[in-house]
Amino acid sequence: MSEKTILVWFRNDLRIHDNEILLEAARKADKILPVYCFDPYYFNIAADGTPKTGALRARFLLESVADLRKNLQELGGELIIRIGDPAEILPQLAEQYAVNEVYHHREVAYEETDISEKVETALWNLKLNLKHFIGHTLYHKEDLPFPIKDIPDSFAIFKKKVERDSNVRPCIGTPEKIITPEITDAGELPTLQQLGLNEPVDDTRARVKFKGGETEGLKRLEEYFANNSQIAPTKGRNGATVDRSSKLAPWLALGCISMRQVYWAVVKHEQANNVHNTGMLELELLWRDYFRFMFKKHGKQYFTTDEQAKNTSPEKQAIFEKWKTGNTGIPFIDASMHKLNATGYISNFSRQMVAGYLVRDLEVDWKKGAAYFEEKLIDYSPASNWGNWAFVAGLGHDPRDNKYFNIAKQASELDINSEFINIWLAEEAKFGQVVAV
Ligand SMILES: Cc1cc2nc3c(=O)[nH]c(=O)nc-3n(C[C@H](O)[C@H](O)[C@H](O)COP(=O)(O)OP(=O)(O)OC[C@H]3O[C@@H](n4cnc5c(N)ncnc54)[C@H](O)[C@@H]3O)c2cc1C
Repeated sequence: MSEKTILVWFRNDLRIHDNEILLEAARKADKILPVYCFDPYYFNIAADGTPKTGALRARFLLESVADLRKNLQELGGELIIRIGDPAEILPQLAEQYAVNEVYHHREVAYEETDISEKVETALWNLKLNLKHFIGHTLYHKEDLPFPIKDIPDSFAIFKKKVERDSNVRPCIGTPEKIITPEITDAGELPTLQQLGLNEPVDDTRARVKFKGGETEGLKRLEEYFANNSQIAPTKGRNGATVDRSSKLAPWLALGCISMRQVYWAVVKHEQANNVHNTGMLELELLWRDYFRFMFKKHGKQYFTTDEQAKNTSPEKQAIFEKWKTGNTGIPFIDASMHKLNATGYISNFSRQMVAGYLVRDLEVDWKKGAAYFEEKLIDYSPASNWGNWAFVAGLGHDPRDNKYFNIAKQASELDINSEFINIWLAEEAKFGQVVAV
């Protein structure tokens, strides 16, 4: 009988641990062909000159793909890297390496699912199947106590039912060995210049250095528990005086670590320290699941429910530019935008504030703000970003009163007391209060 080869198409699942497509392919096939495509679509420049992916996020992605290649090589395998449209590249590779099937993780946002559909069609022309796996959420879709179409739109009800009626599956194993066909041209990792971007300059004011890859993500997870070894963090971060947020989002966004790995690390930590149900991180992870499932349920509606067509006059555009560059005159907003532009990361609190301010006070179309975050955030994740923005704009599907509206009003109260503002607006360090940044 002839050998079976499975092509594993890596996208936002850049890890070897707790990765079902990799393990399943290792079990089912004689040989595995791991592939990553840098799709030019994600490096397009929009009509207004803004890149879809900024340099900081692109660098994080390059580091993550390089780390994945290293980890696969350590298991005896290799990662094929290509620049181009996956709908052209994957069928070519499938033919070249006599592939029998292609595996990938299913996405939810429409740009990502459009790409999958094109790949599926192109593979089907070769009579090859694209097998979809579910692997981006904490709770597996099949384990939810309701079908996707009946998922509660209220986060509170979603949370209550999921926590009561579902369980988080254990992490799955890591293949001991990866056997690839003989690969003649594995392909070089592109440079930022090849992706049309310049090397970013690291800002010395940044407290956390984000380096992409599974190795760094797992290190960050360990450090998080080491730094919080005895204390259960406060549940609500907004306004907290100590910042205990995990800063894991960039690694979660690219799947360098999985939601389940974080969840089970929390459980292990609680057992080791004899503290139970601290709520440590689970609530935040659930928010991530919620937005993802909302995307699955409502799809493109997230982008079309904007009833008030916003003014796009040159004056409005000028206001938007001031917001982007941190020149609104509101110190907390400006400091947050300076930090976002310099580092690609701001806290959830800062995100709520700047988004609320843009939408409610400046009355700029929320989609412009979301697109700007898409470029800048190193943890950009379609459902989390567009879902949170829609929520801030009052267009999400959660029927509760929107708390973000009130938060935006707090900006001026924070102005005079924040060390954060001093750092990012380079004012004299004269204040005591520490805001979670
Ligand atoms: C306007 C706006 C845009 C946002 N865009 C993104 C985005 O593109 N990508 C992204 O990962 N998060 C986004 N968030 C959610 C949240 O701000 C970040 O996940 C969080 O600040 C990341 O820091 P952390 O890893 O320290 O989070 P922690 O507080 O330590 O939380 C742990 C993890 O839970 C998830 N999480 C926490 N809060 C949320 C939330 N409200 N929604 C979804 N997931 C959450 C993240 O994966 C996070 O890493 C956005 C929030 C707002 C208000």
